Amino acid sequence: MLLALPLAVAVWTFGGLAARRARNNADQALVRDLNSGASVYVRRLGEARGTADRLARSRRVARAFTQGHERTLRAIEQAHPWILVLQGSAGGLHGRNEQGRVDVIAGRRTIGRVFVVPPFGRPLARDIGDEARLPGGRFGFLLDHRLVREDDVGRVDPPPMVGKATDIRMQGLEYRAVAQPVGERRTALITVRKQSEIAAAAENVRWRVIVIGLGLIGAFLVAAYAVAPAIARTRLSRLQRDQAQRVLARLGDGVFVVDHDGVVQLWNQAAEAITGLRAAEVHGRRAEEAIPGWTTIATFVPVADRPGEVDGTSSAETVPVEVAGRELWLSIVAVALDDDTVYAFRDATHDRRLEDLRSQFVATISHELRTPLASLHGAALTLREHDLPAQTQDDLLEMIAEQSNRLANLVEEILVAGQLDSGSLRVVADTFDPEELVRGVVKVGQSRVGDETTIEVVVPPVVPKAHGDSERTRQVLLNLLDNAIKYSPSGGRIEVGLATAGDRLRFTVQDQGLGIPVGEQERIFDKFYRLDPDQRRGIGGTGLGLYICRELVQSMHGRIWVESEPGRGTTFAFELPAEPVPAPV
Ligand code: ADP
Repeated sequence: MLLALPLAVAVWTFGGLAARRARNNADQALVRDLNSGASVYVRRLGEARGTADRLARSRRVARAFTQGHERTLRAIEQAHPWILVLQGSAGGLHGRNEQGRVDVIAGRRTIGRVFVVPPFGRPLARDIGDEARLPGGRFGFLLDHRLVREDDVGRVDPPPMVGKATDIRMQGLEYRAVAQPVGERRTALITVRKQSEIAAAAENVRWRVIVIGLGLIGAFLVAAYAVAPAIARTRLSRLQRDQAQRVLARLGDGVFVVDHDGVVQLWNQAAEAITGLRAAEVHGRRAEEAIPGWTTIATFVPVADRPGEVDGTSSAETVPVEVAGRELWLSIVAVALDDDTVYAFRDATHDRRLEDLRSQFVATISHELRTPLASLHGAALTLREHDLPAQTQDDLLEMIAEQSNRLANLVEEILVAGQLDSGSLRVVADTFDPEELVRGVVKVGQSRVGDETTIEVVVPPVVPKAHGDSERTRQVLLNLLDNAIKYSPSGGRIEVGLATAGDRLRFTVQDQGLGIPVGEQERIFDKFYRLDPDQRRGIGGTGLGLYICRELVQSMHGRIWVESEPGRGTTFAFELPAEPVPAPV
C-alpha cells in the first residue's frame, strides 16, 4: 500500500510525458510531410523551368512573337499550365508568383519572355499531396494570408512561422502548421493538421499509458497481497529455524540426525563436547563410518514415533561407545522425524561408574558384615555350653569384643561417609599436640600387629602445635596406619612420621607393602573405589576409608596425597596448618 501511492503518481506523470511526446511526434510528422510535398514541388518546378528554356529557344515561339500570333501563344500556355508567355521586353508579372523567366531574343533584341508561374491552387495542392502520398488536406499553399488546400481556401491568422511548427487559426478552427517559403513573394508551401486530432491522439496515448500503468500496479498489489502470507510464512519459518538452531547449539544434550540413507545430517555443539568428535568429521558421512559404536546404538536404541513413546516403556537406553580409546556411556533416545531419525544423548559415564561402584560396595559391605557377624554368632553359640574352660571363655569374649569393635568401626565409616555427603559432619577448629596424637595412634596400631610387622615413630625434637580437630586427625592417621598394616600382608617396617613443612605440619605413614600402580593413585581417594574389589587377595574393606580421609583433611584446610611403587611400598602424607613455633628466648 505504501508503494502504491508513489507508483500511481509516477504513472500519472509518465502519462503526461507520453502525451507530450505524442505531440512532438505529430510536429515532426508535419515537418516530414512538408519535406515530401516540397520535393515533389521542386521537381515539378525544375521541369517547368526546363520547358520554359526550351520554349524560349523554339522558332515557333519566336515567330509567334514577331508575327504577333496571340492565339499561338495562348495555345502554348494552355498546353503548359506552369508557363506564361508575354510579348515585349518591358516589365514582369506584377502580382503573380513568378518562379523563373527566360528571354526570347531575335537579332539582338528581346522580343518576349517565357515565365514560370506555378498554378498555386486547389488542384495543384491535391496533385502534390497525392504524389507525396500525404493524407487528404494535409498539404497546401500559403499565398500571403490565404491557405489553399485541396478541399478549402481560407484566411490564416496568425501566419505560421517558417521552419517551425506553430498554432494557426483558420475559419474558426485551430491547426498546427509548418511552412516553407518559395520565391520572393509571401508564398509558402505548408502542411497542416487539426489541433483537435493531435490533442485526441495525445490524450489517447496518455490514457493508454495511465490505464496500463495502473493495471500493472493493481496486478502488482494483487500479487503482493497473494504472496504476502507466503513471504510472512517463509520469514516466520526462517526465524523459527534460526531459533531452533540456536537452541540446538546451546542445548546441554548431544543431538544428531541420521537421514533415511544412514547419513549424518546434524551434529550439535554438545555432541562435539561430549564425544570429542568435531561436526566436520561427522557431518555428511555415513553413521557407521563416522559414529563409533553406531552398530550398538542402532541395535539397542529403540526409535519412538513421538518423544517419550516406545511401547509404553522408557525409551532412553544407555550404551557404551569407545572414542579414541576412551569408554563413554551414552544415555540415548531416538525419535523418528519424517524420513530422518533424531538422536539425543547425554554423557552417563559418571553415573554409570558410580552405579558400578555402588553395586561393588553393596557386595563388599555384605561380605564385610558377614564375617564378623558369623564369628559373633559362633562365639555366642559356644559360650552357651556350660562346661567350657575359663581360658576358652576369656578368648571367646575377647573375640566378641574385637569383632563387635570391627562392626562398630564399619558402621562408623558408613555413617561418616553419609554425613560428609550431606554436609552435616562437624569438624572442630582447635589446636592440639601432634606428637602425642601420633604416639597414641601408633600404640593402637602396635596392639593390632604380629611380630612380622614393626611400627616406628619418627618425630623431630621440636614440633609446633597443629590447627584442626584432633579427633578427626586421629581418625585419618589411624585409617592410614590400618591400611598400611592391611596392605602389607607379609609385614615389614611401618614408619609414622611427623615433620614441619613451612607453616604446615606433615604427617606421613610409610609401609613396605603391596604398593599402588601410578594410574590408580588418583582414584583410590574416590568413594567406594578399591584396587581389588573382588578381594582376591583376601583383604577386606569398603573403599570408603581414603575418601573419608581426604574429605576430613580438606575440611581442616589441609591436603593429602600418596606416593607409591607397586611391590616396594607406599607413603601416604597429609598436611595441616601449624601454629608458629615461639622463638627461643
Ligand atoms: P579399603 O576399605 O578398601 O581399604 P580405602 O579407601 O581405605 O578402602 O582404600 C582404597 C584402596 O586403596 C584400597 O582398596 C587399596 O586397594 C588401596 N590402598 C589403600 N592404602 C593402601 C596401602 N597402604 N598400600 C596399598 N594399597 C592401598
